Amino acid sequence: MSSNVEDLISAIKNPTEEDKALIKKAYDFAALAHKDQARFSGEPYFVHCFAVAMNLAQFGMETKVIAAGLLHDTLEDADITQKEFEAKFGKEILFLVEGVTKLGKLKYRGEQRHVESLRKLFIATTRDIRVLIIKLADRLHNVSTLEFVRPDKQKRIALETLEIYAPLAYRLGMGIIRHRLEELAFPYAYPEEYKKVKELLKAREDEIQKRLEKFYRTLKKEIAQAGYKQFRTSNRMKGTYSLYKKLVEKKMDITKIYDIMAIRVIVPTVADCYGVLGIVHANWRPLPGRIKDYIAFPKPNGYQSLHTTVFTGDGGIIEVQIRTEEMHQEAEYGIASHLGYKEGIMKNKTRIEDIGKKYAWFKQLVELQENVSQTGEFLNHLKVDFFENRVFVFTPKGDVIDLPEGSSPIDFAYAVHSDIGSHVSGAKVNGKFLAITTTLHNGDIVEIETKKSVSPTRKWLEGSKTTLAKRHIRIALQENATKNTK
Ligand code: MN
Repeated sequence: MSSNVEDLISAIKNPTEEDKALIKKAYDFAALAHKDQARFSGEPYFVHCFAVAMNLAQFGMETKVIAAGLLHDTLEDADITQKEFEAKFGKEILFLVEGVTKLGKLKYRGEQRHVESLRKLFIATTRDIRVLIIKLADRLHNVSTLEFVRPDKQKRIALETLEIYAPLAYRLGMGIIRHRLEELAFPYAYPEEYKKVKELLKAREDEIQKRLEKFYRTLKKEIAQAGYKQFRTSNRMKGTYSLYKKLVEKKMDITKIYDIMAIRVIVPTVADCYGVLGIVHANWRPLPGRIKDYIAFPKPNGYQSLHTTVFTGDGGIIEVQIRTEEMHQEAEYGIASHLGYKEGIMKNKTRIEDIGKKYAWFKQLVELQENVSQTGEFLNHLKVDFFENRVFVFTPKGDVIDLPEGSSPIDFAYAVHSDIGSHVSGAKVNGKFLAITTTLHNGDIVEIETKKSVSPTRKWLEGSKTTLAKRHIRIALQENATKNTK
């Protein structure tokens, strides 16, 4: 890939003269700062900085963020103080670059340096979400050049990408980034499993492709005949890593997976989405229980679409996803699609609190890192609370609460409010009274009853899953213990 500054500028939407000047300045500075460094691939180090900036331009980020992308490794690698940097590029860009800079090698070593750097990244991210987006752009280029890295390091980077960065991209609604991170990291993290998935896919691919094409033609014809003039369709192939995770769930039986390939229909309005769903169901029989209305009930990461799975009539089964253009943008770039535009409402509102309820989970993440002191514990809780499979349950009013799989009404109650959590006396799940330690499932409607006289017991610890609940329970148990000894 060439790393010509003009290519980068032309990747920015309507740049002003000021934008161009800033990009050129950052470009020259970074090129000089890294001039004696090389990547493992033997390429000049600057190629990496350029690629990260290009990724950010592609995400639709504004000029300052792209400049920070060019400069993101200069504080670590070049001989420049923060003061000098700030004088040259200003406070905002310094903050962004500082946020993605790893901690000094002297203070921490090995695994601990690594985790503490991650913690630092999250703290900076809570002040400005764009720090995380730069980190994702950085990681995306690093995993695309993994072939040149030492094998032991290769595996670590690939695993970390699958366990932390891809889930973060998913949580921020950046579907396309998550997909690319997973596809690049999977072969290095689990080479044998990757080979197996490729083999299974190969055996099925032709059949799926043929069926899909036939279905596709008929569907397009039906939609057009119903009078829809503006619509487009595309196929999406399930990523090998998410296919692998599903395969494990289905005991490696690929015939049990219905969405290896899906058809996407993109229409102008929400009403059109439901109209097209009607056309699909009028022509093909849907599988019961597989119609998902993520328009009325968006996923917590903001994802919206209608999903349905239908029998094709010739022995096959196909998933159809229907959405508007806007929902499509949001599904691909998520949070980044709110941050990019200069005149957009999100301009200058990059603090996470301002991004709204949709990303409320992030606040919990911050709280978590503030309250969990031990390094290993932090990473563990991070994986359990945020990246494990989630279940979506509802309050009686229809609000969605998302929890890690295996959560109970106790977790639900604490997620709603700590006061409710501390006094749970009973729980109605889908209208029936069940034990407050029952495991909740997707779509459950949960109603909590409280009594002032009730307080947490030791049993609650085993009967809860989230760090949030466990922490509150532990504190309450300790308080009760001291009260009783007095
Ligand atoms: Mn980098």
